[in-house]
Order: sequence, then structure tokens, then C-alpha cells
Amino acid sequence: MSSYEIPLSRPDITDAEVELVSKVLRSGRLSIGPMAEQFERQVAHRADTLEAVSVSSGTCGLQLALQALGIGPGDEVITTPFSFIASSNVILMVGARPVFVDICPKTLNMDPEKLEGAIGPRTRAILAVETFGNTAYMDRYAAIAARHEIPLVEDCCEALGSTLNGRPAGSFGRIGVFGFYPNKQITTGEGGMIVTNDRRLADLCRSMRNQGRAIPRHGENQSSGASPSSAAGWLQHERLGYNYRLSEIAAALGVGQMRRFDDILAKRRRVAEMYFERLMAHPDLILPTLPDGVQNSWFVFIVRLASAYTRDERDRVIAGMTRHDIGARDYFPCIHLQPFYREKFGFGPGDFPIAETVSQRTIALPFFNDMSPQQVELVSQTLEVMIGRENLKRS
Ligand SMILES: *Cc1c(COP(=O)(O)O)cnc(C)c1O
Repeated sequence: MSSYEIPLSRPDITDAEVELVSKVLRSGRLSIGPMAEQFERQVAHRADTLEAVSVSSGTCGLQLALQALGIGPGDEVITTPFSFIASSNVILMVGARPVFVDICPKTLNMDPEKLEGAIGPRTRAILAVETFGNTAYMDRYAAIAARHEIPLVEDCCEALGSTLNGRPAGSFGRIGVFGFYPNKQITTGEGGMIVTNDRRLADLCRSMRNQGRAIPRHGENQSSGASPSSAAGWLQHERLGYNYRLSEIAAALGVGQMRRFDDILAKRRRVAEMYFERLMAHPDLILPTLPDGVQNSWFVFIVRLASAYTRDERDRVIAGMTRHDIGARDYFPCIHLQPFYREKFGFGPGDFPIAETVSQRTIALPFFNDMSPQQVELVSQTLEVMIGRENLKRS
């Protein structure tokens, strides 16, 4: 995490959560236990799914989701070039190939109009990201996926608590994955959660996160905890597996965060409202667009400079803010222009022009639960000054 006076993000952890974690530490049961199960039930409830499988990161959750769907070498997965790189890396991790679809300049999610044209004979899934928590088009992606009889994988790592027409993020895909890195809406330090209504997929993920062990019958623990080796099937390995388990320590933190999740959402909404009110009238700033029916739980607050501004100008605005001890960042550089992707797939500038124009002008502003009106004011003033300086240089 950054050490700026006003950081880009800051986890919000209460004494109750510290107490829950301490209790686990004192209990002696540090992995595979009741905390992970409780955390799973809480997140399943929020996402309105039947099943939830806790894992050690959002990235490994997405990897397991793709593997559970049988996606591998020779397969193509359609996804967005404008995202945190993990949403595309997981496709490479299972040996498949990402096929990018350009984004809509308003919502910043994949353009549903362009999606269908990218589906080909090798397409095995659509991996859609709720970019910056925006649930726009999730229903349309699901309809397109159903029409083509391919699964929708929902990377809802940035969208816990977001909804579309009342339906929660995590409930749109055949399988979805949340992430709990410290900058997300809730955190477990590191962690993730796979959600689905498909019991078979959930059980496959449970097995793979735990060394490919035989899946215990529902409601049973994955082991007896106290003496794992005595549990039936504990040393039966039915498939290639990993250790992607979430510890009880991390899960306890998640349980505490979920207990006050409504309060967390209200705080984030309040900070977003302050930014909207303060920056709405700025002639050179584009604020987040929320189409009808979209409720955002606010992963981050992203503003965009008008199209007259260059990437260098945007970069100088960000540098100017960080010089004033304000954490601001260029969320996100396009995935297809990352050196590794250019080399491997031959992508270059101009391939996904909307994603590129957007990503050259975005600025992530400090955003955290307990941000004060004074902090929002200072961030906004500094942003205005830095934009003003760029305007002066031009004239
Ligand atoms: C945070 C995030 C992930 C997962 O990140 P982890 O750090 O592995 O938990 C995946 N996709 C997107 C879009 C994310 O923002």
C-alpha cells in the first residue's frame, strides 16, 4: 500500500475484526475450519448464489474457474483489454488464448455490440470484468453466452456489492470470482471467492484448491482439522490440485468485514457522492457513467480527462498529485499493450482504439471508506490545479 498523506486506498479494519482474528490465533486452528465456511456462506448470500468456495486470491480463483470449465490449450476466451492484468493472465495460465473485445467508452466494460463478432469456433468462454465495479451489460453478456452455449465467467473481483436491476455481481456468470486484496471493497489481506449455482463446478474447485483431494459430502468439513489424516479420503487425490486454500486467519478478517458490509457500502457511496458533487461541473473531467439500473459498490473512483488531453499531460497531472502527497494512479494501462502480450501475440497500438484512448486519460483518485470531506476537497483542488497547469503550458 502507498504511504501518501492521502493514499489511493486504505483498508478499514475495526477492533471487532482484530478480535476475530486473535480468536482464531488463540484457537490453534489456523486452516480448514469454521471461519472459511462462515465467510463462504456470507459471500454466497451477498452474491445470491448457492455455492461459494474460498481461495487464496482472486487470480487463483479465476484459474480454478477456467479449469473447472475444462478450458485449456487450443481454446479461446473472450475478454476485455481494459482491466487489471490478472483477468487476462488467468487465460494464459490454463494454456488458452485471450481474444480481446474493445470497450464501451462510457461504462468502460466490453462493448456488447462487438462481443458477438468475436465469437468463433474455438471460443470456449466469455470472461467479463465488472470494470471498476460497474455491472453494465452483465445481463447482455449472459444472454449472448447462453445463445452460443458457452459459459460466462464473471470476474467480479472489483464488484462485491454492486448490482444491476437489483441482481448482485457474482450472480450473472456460470461461475464468478471475487477478490479481497487490501484495495478492494472488503479485504482478507490476500484472498478470493468463487461463486456459482453449479454444485459440480463448486466441488471441482473445492477439490483443486486442496491438492485434488476427494470431495467430501456436502456439509462435511474438508477434514477433521484436529487430525486430518484420519478423515476419510484425505489422502485420495483424484486430479491435479493445488494449495489455494484461504487460511482461517484471513477468513476471520473476511467474516468481520462482511458483518458490517452494508455500513461499508454506505461509506463508499458517501465518498463517491462527495466526488460527484465536487467535480461534476469541471469542464475537462469525465466522471464515471452508471447506466440505469446500475448500483456501484465503488472499488475505486476513476475520472477521465477530456479527449483533448494527451497521455503525457495526464501523466504529469498524476505526477503533480503524487508530489503533493496524494496517491493517484493510471488505472489501467491496456493489457494488450503490455510488453509480454505484445511479444507473445503481436499486439500493437491501434488494435483496440477505444480502450487505448480511455486508458491514456484515466486517473484513479484516492478512495477509502473513511475519507473525509476535507480530504475529498484537497484531492479535488489539487487535481484542478494540476489540470490548470497543463492548460497554461498549452496557451
Ligand atoms: C483484483 C483483481 C483480480 C484478482 O486479484 P488478486 O490480487 O489475485 O486477488 C482479478 N481481476 C480483477 C479485474 C481485479 O481487479
